[in-house]
Amino acid sequence: MNLDAKIPEGPLAEKWSKHKFNLKLVNPANKRKYDVIVVGTGLAGGAAAASLAELGYNVKAFCFQDSPRRAHSIAAQGGINAAKNYQNDGDSVYRLFYDTIKGGDYRAREGNVYRLAEVSVNIIDQCVAQGVPFAREYGGLLDNRSFGGSQVSRTFYARGQTGQQLLLGAYSALNRQIHLGKVKMYTRTEMLDVVTIDGHAKGIVTRNLITGAIETHSGHAVLLATGGYGNVFYLSTNAIGSNVTAAWRAHKRGAFFANPCYTQIHPTCIPVSGDHQSKLTLMSESLRNDGRVWAPKTVEVATKLRKKEITADQVKEDDRDYFLERKYPSFGNLVPRDVASRNAKEMVDDGRGVGTSGFAVFLDFADAIHRLGKDAVAAKYGNLFDMYYQITDEDPYKQPMRIYPAVHYTMGGLWVDYNLSTNVPGLYALGECNFSDHGANRLGASALMQGLADGYFVIPYTLGDYLATIGPKPVDTKHPAFEQTKQDVIARVNKLLALKGTKTVNEYHRDLGHIMWEYCGMARTEEGLTKAKGLIQALRADFWKNAKVVGENEEVNPALEKAGRVADFLELGELMVDDALMRKESCGGHFRLESQTPEGEALRDDDNFAFVGAWEYKGDNQPEVLNKETLDFEFVHLTQRSYK
Ligand SMILES: Cc1cc2nc3c(=O)[nH]c(=O)nc-3n(C[C@H](O)[C@H](O)[C@H](O)COP(=O)(O)OP(=O)(O)OC[C@H]3O[C@@H](n4cnc5c(N)ncnc54)[C@H](O)[C@@H]3O)c2cc1C
Repeated sequence: MNLDAKIPEGPLAEKWSKHKFNLKLVNPANKRKYDVIVVGTGLAGGAAAASLAELGYNVKAFCFQDSPRRAHSIAAQGGINAAKNYQNDGDSVYRLFYDTIKGGDYRAREGNVYRLAEVSVNIIDQCVAQGVPFAREYGGLLDNRSFGGSQVSRTFYARGQTGQQLLLGAYSALNRQIHLGKVKMYTRTEMLDVVTIDGHAKGIVTRNLITGAIETHSGHAVLLATGGYGNVFYLSTNAIGSNVTAAWRAHKRGAFFANPCYTQIHPTCIPVSGDHQSKLTLMSESLRNDGRVWAPKTVEVATKLRKKEITADQVKEDDRDYFLERKYPSFGNLVPRDVASRNAKEMVDDGRGVGTSGFAVFLDFADAIHRLGKDAVAAKYGNLFDMYYQITDEDPYKQPMRIYPAVHYTMGGLWVDYNLSTNVPGLYALGECNFSDHGANRLGASALMQGLADGYFVIPYTLGDYLATIGPKPVDTKHPAFEQTKQDVIARVNKLLALKGTKTVNEYHRDLGHIMWEYCGMARTEEGLTKAKGLIQALRADFWKNAKVVGENEEVNPALEKAGRVADFLELGELMVDDALMRKESCGGHFRLESQTPEGEALRDDDNFAFVGAWEYKGDNQPEVLNKETLDFEFVHLTQRSYK
């Protein structure tokens, strides 16, 4: 099937305005007759729930944490992009659009990305109006810094806590609506299935994480804003609770899953220190504004560093290889993440890695401290430096940070059209849980922009079009589809609780993570992926035989919660491998060793792979079917990406 993304016709800059005009409206008095379910109250879902309630719809919002304030979005550090051109350095909506298409290695839709750049400017105004304390320059104007893949400064930030501040903004807007009775908030509630009637999404089934009660909820539309699935790799920079369950269960009810293999591996994370770890810590990309990335020029010097015979500051300038500055003089340390990550791996593969494990390169602030002074550096990045010190017991003001790539973000997700609708009518996906705008590699500071664009500025318009079409007739949970789906959920919960083997669910998760990282991580091959597929199938079969799930349903049971999520990861992992096998080209974060330029850069095959791969579920243990959405490039010329 060739999928229709419903991109409006016409000039790029007019598509969104014209589309908004053409969308059907629900009149203000009728809005209160519609119920909208929003699953997820991070930045995307929180923004959507607050905005839709403000418009007059009745919103039921769900999250599995004890408060929307604990969504993973709170972890976002570095900033949010917007084409305001406050720096007068040549930025524009078109440049942000262009940088994003190029950054995603020409695997995103032009129409969507242009809209994203267009509404980016409104997001900043909206957040400032909410009181988000963005950093300001001495004169009081909003400050900017640079992020990877661009040569302008367009990133708005609140120290290293941008996500937290933005989430407090969205949360206060949401709370206002809770107070007004327009949003009913269900915390500690996990969505476990979608209910469809005549092919339309009409509700969800949830489990109350305190009491274990399995309940049904109806709505005229269901919006998923449930975040990314990077934790399929076990170790990632994501919050421990981030998972794929909501999106995966929706997938099993018919929603296509797009580009699952596109994973972002972030170059500047604190390296893995051993098998005891359950998560990894990001050192924000903003640090590459002033930090310089290097590795020793020779294996000999690297060996001395690894054996701690010398310290980094004792390595002479001539013995250092500032490899990003050397290879990419135009962008230097601010090349996109996929490029920086691959180059760090190259250094390590070359025997020039540092730290006791040898799996690290340096991020050095000595020059910046010399140039700006320690206080100025601390004012910009202080909390990140503190975090690094607390985790490693090394002082980054004195010695360079050790960094290494780690799983960070998933560009894949539920397939959505221009209206953010999945292929299941009435089911929408927002934020990181959809595949939308980042192609094969997301640029830094663009996830917050996309999540908030989806929540504040896109769905409030596009949802009305669908609701006006179906009409406000109430949806009754007495419909047999609700009871049937509820029974399916209960059966699955019981199946998990019946697992009384010997291996913990966490062990399965870790084993899966090892397979994914080894064969579907930074470098992928036909042979490795084929092997991974077999390993995942065997691991999944073993899980359903030998896993141990303790406790009961009618209680707080983190083991049960985790078991459900890991079971879904064990299925998703195989689909990611299938997708990576199918895509016999390299693009962005998807690097097939068989497809690279002589300089070792990702080599695309536009003739055969300029499409979105959207997978269709066909039943347990059945091969999924690939549907394609052809990507047409009318405005940007496809070329080999270069940051030299
Ligand atoms: C360490 C770190 C730093 C980052 N820094 C930046 C940055 O500086 N700039 C940037 O642009 N991006 C950054 N990102 C990426 C960005 O933070 C995320 O992509 C973004 O916050 C995702 O927002 P979201 O609303 O889509 O999902 P989330 O914030 O993950 O929210 C998901 C919501 O869904 C709920 N949920 C999930 N499943 C269920 C279920 N089954 N039932 C009920 N509720 C459910 C959760 O409770 C939660 O409320 C960073 C990411 C990390 C890991």
